[in-house]
Amino acid sequence: MALNNSQYNAIMREYDGKQSRNRREQRQRQERAYARLPRLKELDDLLSSLAVRQARRLLDGDTEAVKSLKEEYAAIRREKEGLLAQEGFAPDYLEMHYDCPLCKDTGFADGKKCRCFRQKELELLYHQSRIREKLKEENFDTCTDLCYSETERMEGTGLSVRQYMQGVIAGCRRFAAQFEEKGGNLVFYGSTGTGKTFLAGCIARELIERYLSVVYLSATDLFDMMARERFSRDEEGQEESSLRSILECDLLIIDDLGTELSNSFTNSQLFYCLNERLSGGKSTIITTNLSPGQLGREYSERIGSRLVENFRFISMPPGDIRIWKQRKQRKKNGGEK
Ligand SMILES: [Zn+2]
Repeated sequence: MALNNSQYNAIMREYDGKQSRNRREQRQRQERAYARLPRLKELDDLLSSLAVRQARRLLDGDTEAVKSLKEEYAAIRREKEGLLAQEGFAPDYLEMHYDCPLCKDTGFADGKKCRCFRQKELELLYHQSRIREKLKEENFDTCTDLCYSETERMEGTGLSVRQYMQGVIAGCRRFAAQFEEKGGNLVFYGSTGTGKTFLAGCIARELIERYLSVVYLSATDLFDMMARERFSRDEEGQEESSLRSILECDLLIIDDLGTELSNSFTNSQLFYCLNERLSGGKSTIITTNLSPGQLGREYSERIGSRLVENFRFISMPPGDIRIWKQRKQRKKNGGEK
């Protein structure tokens, strides 16, 4: 599965939009700075005339003159920096600020598609924008102190659910922060509504912000896609496939494993997918209602052992954070004493 023309054009239009927005903002910053510091404008004009003079001298082969121009250049830059600092502007205040410094919002870096381009591609191909919207509200900052009970205990830990979850959340933050160096694989398991998907989403968000490629699929969608892919490959003999993104993206999130209709096909596909990703050194996060023991029984033994050997299992507390959330909300509104 590759981008069609209109999808490609839509991405390129977005880059054009970013570039003109950033240029406009740069001009606005410039105007503000010039208004406060008229000398800055003079210096910038000097710099442009210097550039012209330098080009002319270079053409004449006058290397001595070029050298002295360079010194003039440096002196002007120093004066500019001093002025900006004196008025409390950041040193790069007058520079272009790019959304993606890697490709300067062109979509391409080193002659290849930039990470940010690949991310857009995944978004379009896998309809990831919905999850992106959701992630705007849900992230580590919004989850830290909410939703988890202070009175209920987390079995076997001696901690309240809330204390336990603070540890889990800190672990997830670390996982995201160290992702490029350490990678790793997680399974969040526990009943519905305990925040599994939410935590996976928080990690996804951090990575997406660093322009890493994240594919987020429910188990049902994943297996549907794999089945479709196999079918269309058989029919058309296509090599290029969406499977590649699933196998090669930096992080794959398989949500709600165990809710799909499982059979020998899903079993073999899951093994193939996990195995390929593990051997490629790619990270996977799984959320599931099944306990580690149930996972081993529900799927094949070889899947069970891959999971046990390579994944960290994180148990979620019983109870429903959505209910706690509502309770907390009611309390806040004075409805419940
Ligand atoms: Zn980029």
